[in-house]
Amino acid sequence: MRIVLGAVITCLVFITPSSMPGFTVDARDLQNGMRGSDVRALQELLVDLGYDLTVDGIFGRKTEALVKQIQQQAGIVPDGIVGAKTNEILTLLKERVVSYTIKSGDNLTKLANQYGTTVSQIADFNALPNPDRLLPGQQILIPTSSLAVVSSGLMYRQMFSWPVKGSISSGYGWRIHPITKVRHFHGGIDIAAPQGTAVRAGAGGKVIRAGRMGNYGLGIVIDHGNGYTSWYGHNSKLLVRVGDLVQRGQTIAQVGSTGLATGPHLDFRIKIKDQTVDPLEWLP
Ligand SMILES: [Zn+2]
Repeated sequence: MRIVLGAVITCLVFITPSSMPGFTVDARDLQNGMRGSDVRALQELLVDLGYDLTVDGIFGRKTEALVKQIQQQAGIVPDGIVGAKTNEILTLLKERVVSYTIKSGDNLTKLANQYGTTVSQIADFNALPNPDRLLPGQQILIPTSSLAVVSSGLMYRQMFSWPVKGSISSGYGWRIHPITKVRHFHGGIDIAAPQGTAVRAGAGGKVIRAGRMGNYGLGIVIDHGNGYTSWYGHNSKLLVRVGDLVQRGQTIAQVGSTGLATGPHLDFRIKIKDQTVDPLEWLP
């Protein structure tokens, strides 16, 4: 298992937010007709993100069209002007895109699973004409989160608070299951806390599930709107019912070890549509 992971990691080059001199808080807004080192930095960033663009330091029509395209996909006003909001989206995108060299046996489904994204996102991002045909040695960029997710993430990032006080006993991502010993994707974080500790709603919303949920034990799902849900598993006792409206911080359950659990802890998950995201990126 380690060998497989190691091999994957050596193929990754995380793009570091280094060459961004113009991207400071008091930087000027960039738009069509401008030129300068900050425009060049923007263009370099767009190229890093996989867009086909000549880096000439001149904010022309092509640069503007790409900025508008990104803004549109991110769900903000597509005015083609790079201000604070667009900068924030570009920076988040840059942090979330990894450069990957195709190995023999790779396919997009496998990579999408590995990076928590979708086949169409990878295909669209790289404008791959034939996604079924990947060539070993081919360099592609893998967005680990869609533009829409990044954009709404800006808003929702401030929305969640910690559901329980405790230490994280297992993080989000691939792991060997502590009980079944099977390698699987852990879609949440486990927060260890004493039996009976108050479990609080991570954000306000409506309870859409409350009850036995198989290995997840006594669980609760809260719908926060816009495709966002939060999940609370392994509780010893539930204090809300389906249909209840809850406030952020409201006690909804008590920590337990129902379902498949080695000891009392909360398995906390955040999903956007049906995809889990790393809760640590959403928690303060
Ligand atoms: Zn868990």
